[in-house]
Amino acid sequence: MSNPKSVAILGSTGSIGTQTLEVIRQHPEDFQVEVLTAQNNADLLITQALEFLPNAVVIGNESLYQKVKEALDPKDIKVFAGAKAIAQVVEMGTIDVVLTALVGYSGLIPTVHAIKAGKQIALANKETMVVAGEIITALAKEYGVNIYPVDSEHSAIFQCLVGEFHNPIEKIILTASGGPFRGKNREFLKTVTKAQALKHPNWDMGAKITIDSASMMNKGLEVIEAKWLFGLKKEQIEVVVHPQSIIHSLVQFEDGSLKAQLGLPDMRIPIQFALSFPDRLKSDFERFDFSRYPSLNFEAPDLETFRNLQLAYDALAKGGNAPCMLNAANEIVVDAFLHDKIGFLEMSDFIEEAMVKTKFIAQPSLDDYILTDERTREITTELIQKVS
Ligand code: MG
Repeated sequence: MSNPKSVAILGSTGSIGTQTLEVIRQHPEDFQVEVLTAQNNADLLITQALEFLPNAVVIGNESLYQKVKEALDPKDIKVFAGAKAIAQVVEMGTIDVVLTALVGYSGLIPTVHAIKAGKQIALANKETMVVAGEIITALAKEYGVNIYPVDSEHSAIFQCLVGEFHNPIEKIILTASGGPFRGKNREFLKTVTKAQALKHPNWDMGAKITIDSASMMNKGLEVIEAKWLFGLKKEQIEVVVHPQSIIHSLVQFEDGSLKAQLGLPDMRIPIQFALSFPDRLKSDFERFDFSRYPSLNFEAPDLETFRNLQLAYDALAKGGNAPCMLNAANEIVVDAFLHDKIGFLEMSDFIEEAMVKTKFIAQPSLDDYILTDERTREITTELIQKVS
């Protein structure tokens, strides 16, 4: 790898993307920005490009191409537009590592391209692993690519495993904050609004992941992500609710010893570690203060109220394209909930029904995943239209 490491950020204007740029801004000797991509936020993309002077940028929404092109032409920054360009730009020879912070399924194809081009991956897009974890991990092995987790729980596990890579894992324990509705019953959840669901107690994140956190689907997706990242069986992945979000996750080894990684909830730490591994770089992020957290609490997740987590475990047990269906249906229902078309609890009902109606494939190819994603989206959309 070159020094400084040359980074492509897919989704640079979102929550993870902007925090990645904060990390890079503080470490100009260690990292340089080679590529930035954004879907719609042309203004922020332009501002970022003028500051970090990447080799190229891509704006996903093609109608904004002219605007970005005109703004960046004087600086000699290459400008491309469209989903295909995002998938192609990651192959540039000058890139060392691709940080994938796209939202949802859209991360899959660019990640496949990046792996095939031999780029290291800093994975912030968990849905890529949920949809096609088996193919992604096989490709990464074939092309000698490492996938460094950015998701805070998976980064915690990865950090616990440093120096332990030869020691078998007995199980891992993913911590969950429980979100804004922890402890609530189904009666209460029937009428909650998107404004309530968008208020996460500990983490400030994008809309999709915040709704996923409130519904516990985020933890379900993370269980599946963990299976592929760490090569585990479903029985080896536990979830514990930990409202303070200080312990980011734990690994239990065969001797019964548990290792945990702790800290204030701050995504810049896992982002920085994914980019700097195996080194740790100095930071001025706020430090943990024990006097402010006299106790840390733990409880079992409520799988009957928050059915999404159970649906995710079921999809993982079924295997094949079932997790891909789960993810596609979830993206549709979250969007419908955010547009006030369906209620909070109905999200799980529609996901379950859509998964029954989509054709199961035990050993899917990449094309099968692409078709499954399309088909489950159509089915879920039809189901929602029928009731509204
Ligand atoms: Mg997470």
